[in-house]
Amino acid sequence: MRLSRYFLPVLKENPAEAQIVSHRLMLRAGMIKQQTAGIYSWLPLGFKVLKRIEQIVHEEQERAGHIALLMPTLQPADLWRESGRYEDYGQEMLRIKDRHGRDMLYGPTNEEMITDIFRSHVGSYKDLPLTLYHVQWKFRDEVRPRFGVMRGREFYMKDGYTFDVDKASALHAYNRHMVAYLRTYERMGLTAIPMRADSGPIGGDDTHEFLVLAETGESEVFYDQAVTELTLGERAVDFDNRDEVAAICDEFTTLYARTDETHDEALFNAVPEDRRRVGRGIEVGQIFYFGTKYSEAMGATVVTQDGNRVPVEMGSHGIGVSRLLGAIIEASHDDKGIIWPEGVTPFHAGIVNLKQGDAEADAACESLYKALAGAGLEALYDDRSERAGAKFATMDLIGLPWRITVGPRGLAKGVVELTSRRSGESVEMSPEAAVARLV
Ligand code: ATP
Ligand code: MG
Ligand code: MG
Ligand code: MG
Repeated sequence: MRLSRYFLPVLKENPAEAQIVSHRLMLRAGMIKQQTAGIYSWLPLGFKVLKRIEQIVHEEQERAGHIALLMPTLQPADLWRESGRYEDYGQEMLRIKDRHGRDMLYGPTNEEMITDIFRSHVGSYKDLPLTLYHVQWKFRDEVRPRFGVMRGREFYMKDGYTFDVDKASALHAYNRHMVAYLRTYERMGLTAIPMRADSGPIGGDDTHEFLVLAETGESEVFYDQAVTELTLGERAVDFDNRDEVAAICDEFTTLYARTDETHDEALFNAVPEDRRRVGRGIEVGQIFYFGTKYSEAMGATVVTQDGNRVPVEMGSHGIGVSRLLGAIIEASHDDKGIIWPEGVTPFHAGIVNLKQGDAEADAACESLYKALAGAGLEALYDDRSERAGAKFATMDLIGLPWRITVGPRGLAKGVVELTSRRSGESVEMSPEAAVARLV
């Protein structure tokens, strides 16, 4: 992409309404625009990152054997009357009437709708296990929408639903989600710690939230420092192997890590004192096993191998896709701007032409741009006639992991400069070597 033809409305001034750094930087970097409280347009740069995050979510769900579909944002109230949640959900639910006076709602989550899909088409243990998920916009009329996309009213969420014939199989589905989520967050450059959580109004027996540590997080967290050092890394996981998946979950949930809702002072005090930490965290996902709560209420049953008809065992599993942009920036920025982890960066590299209009510099930038594209890397080429300082400031603000700086002085020596956004370190090398370094 050539910056002269892109739409990147960066702000020079700090927007007064932004209280936390990620919100400030997303506005300044021209990623989002608020349309009304808690509702945002996703401008091109923000949209690109949102799609990269969504893509990682899809890839890791697919790896675990889960199946994507798409349910609508608007739902009929009648489904929610069946589960009893239409009355219970309260003011967070946006209720709408259509022209015929029928009660509709903008979905805050999809347990009812997926249970309806299931009961319409599945009736035998032979079709299980089954995990269906989608990534779709949700609406919750939050009392206090704030911190930009972190607590929006309209937000983008991955929500997956598991259907199993018995509890053991449902817990395997739960564990599969935990492991898939661990890899999902790691690929985004995040340390997201599974913490035992309170099941709250959805109701359930087993639930963990995934928290990214950040001072601006809304949850108070208590944890053993050692838990932050665990990583899944490149391990190959056989998601069908119950014991293997369960062992990974044990590894990540044995050390103490809880939110204030489930915190237990006595257990926490058993953690060696030098490793005890109290901090704050951002909830970027949650997994739930809730058994037959919805299947019983809505008549979603399956025939077992011995011919009995039983309500199907269920769980639901969510990732805050749009909130993750905020969480990633909270975890990865400096005073100049965002520092995107490679896994989610909107462009792989920026090219800064120090002397736009200089035939040699222009030609070198063009050929670098093409070489990167040829290697499958998308670059943002700053081809505007701006001062070098302004170009650097924009690149630092939008946080691309690499910057290639091209100018007549370097080209006279046959070199360009490759700068890492994270370390700030610059190295001179030939344009070919710079491309090879990024591939
Ligand atoms: P919170 O405690 O922050 O209100 P929640 O527990 O109500 O979140 P869930 O029902 O668990 O949310 O939804 C799954 C995920 O969706 C959450 O872990 C979070 O990452 C994301 N999410 C929930 N509410 C919002 C929101 N208002 N704006 C952006 N993301 C949200
Ligand atoms: Mg909530
Ligand atoms: Mg919560
Ligand atoms: Mg939650």
